[in-house]
Amino acid sequence: GTADIGVTGLAVMGANLARNFARRGHTVALHNRSRARTDALVAEHGHEGAFIATETLEELVASLAVPRRVLIMVKAGAPVDGVIDQLVPLLEPGDIVIDAGNSHYEDTRRREAALAERGLHFVGVGVSGGEEGALNGPAIMPGGPKESYAALGPLLESIAAQYDGEPCCAWIGTDGAGHYVKMVHNGIEYADMQVIGEAYDLLRRVAGIEPAEQAEVFSAWNQTDLASYLIEITAEVLQQVDAATGRPLVDVIVDEAGQKGTGRWTAISGLDVGAPVAAIAESVFARSLSSQTAVREEARRTLAAGVTDAPVVDAQGRDAFVEDVRQALFASKLVAYAQGLDMLTAAAQEYGWSLDLGTIASLWRDGCIIRADLLDVIMRAFGGRDTERHPEPGARAEGQPANLLFAPEFTRAIAEALPAWRRVVAAAVAAGVPVPVFSSALAYYDGLRADRLPAALIQGQRDFFGAHTYRRTDRDGSFHTLWSDDRTEVDGDGTPV
Ligand code: NDP
Repeated sequence: GTADIGVTGLAVMGANLARNFARRGHTVALHNRSRARTDALVAEHGHEGAFIATETLEELVASLAVPRRVLIMVKAGAPVDGVIDQLVPLLEPGDIVIDAGNSHYEDTRRREAALAERGLHFVGVGVSGGEEGALNGPAIMPGGPKESYAALGPLLESIAAQYDGEPCCAWIGTDGAGHYVKMVHNGIEYADMQVIGEAYDLLRRVAGIEPAEQAEVFSAWNQTDLASYLIEITAEVLQQVDAATGRPLVDVIVDEAGQKGTGRWTAISGLDVGAPVAAIAESVFARSLSSQTAVREEARRTLAAGVTDAPVVDAQGRDAFVEDVRQALFASKLVAYAQGLDMLTAAAQEYGWSLDLGTIASLWRDGCIIRADLLDVIMRAFGGRDTERHPEPGARAEGQPANLLFAPEFTRAIAEALPAWRRVVAAAVAAGVPVPVFSSALAYYDGLRADRLPAALIQGQRDFFGAHTYRRTDRDGSFHTLWSDDRTEVDGDGTPV
């Protein structure tokens, strides 16, 4: 065969990726379970490049140049396993099977191990940017065996978004690392969207700023260090007027946020690897709470507000409040990134991945949903993009900060934002406006920097009810107090000290 790549699964994402490959000059073999999608793609877009339509997976495989590269873009879950099972007998050692859907990284790890036994390369690829990105240039996060990147990387890099001449695509790490990093991208995306939502809610309910006017506020913020795709589209959504009612569209949309699972996976994995990704988890919980329609209905009727001296920001205080909220938003967003990156390091330790945070941040600068000027600054804080830098699993490369907030520019930025951040959280609490991510991000910050945490008391409690022992600040070893006896202290061997 002659095709550079085969794509099976031609719903919107697969079709757009196939067109993107073809437009970049690659010959693309097409396959879909039901022939109609293949025919529709060729009929509508066949003129965009070199396509080879095929009817069966046998034909698809036969049309490919060696090593064969087959990209699967079918519904995540069991359908991916079904397609892999059909493909494997048709392939030869050295061929590459690519799953570019939103698969769970544990599935990717399992599939990679199974295909490796047959000499096949399995590459789980995280793709972000939605339909539009898939067609015009997504951020691409490929995992899998590093040697497969030689045959696959250039192809993927050619269709990726480009930032300053660099592709938003680089090998991430072995087996499920690519899907994992894409998952964490989505977790950060949830938090980023939630903090924007909290800012909107505060501006409206505390300062009385209506959506159309807020559109101007967000457009102005898009000229600051908050500049990002999500801030930009927020302004667009807020200025949209509903044709049917003449009201702001945002007031007509039902306030129940949907989710497809990647944010939830991120929160679950954060718990699994022991990474405190509270801002990300809170953003998932906020969506869940919004969807508890019946309970919210009853709560509105039943539960007191307890708000007696709610702050009211008048015209005079407005600009200052808007700036406070902007700074609180920036600080909270930084914390969400710090938590997401921290989780990557914890997962790298758990799964044996070598993850370079500078390179990963470089991939998120364009093409994906969280693209923002900030990512370029984060990339530089982690030593820039270096696709040959491979830190030890669980470690950061030399010179990279142990926490994003330790990078000097961010230490400084947070210090400057802190007074505003505290004022905003206090005002939200006083007004009864929920700001789960603003406030939990601040709690994370204060928790990190605390001299002493009440964890000492918790260790005392654990020792009291479960003899779990504790360590002392002044001596090595573990100790236990005989709580139900004479309350003397014994060491790990039970010997009185
Ligand atoms: P869907 O997830 O809706 O899946 C539809 C495609 O899967 C069709 O081609 C369908 O074939 C095929 N399919 C379903 N079941 C099977 C099966 N058992 N065997 C073979 N083929 C099957 O398509 P999308 O394009 O929306 O998404 C594809 C992937 O991309 C998903 O993993 C999704 O999560 C991810 N995605 C990623 C986005 C991003 O921004 N990165 C955005 C949206 C999706 P048929 O036509 O015959 O029914």
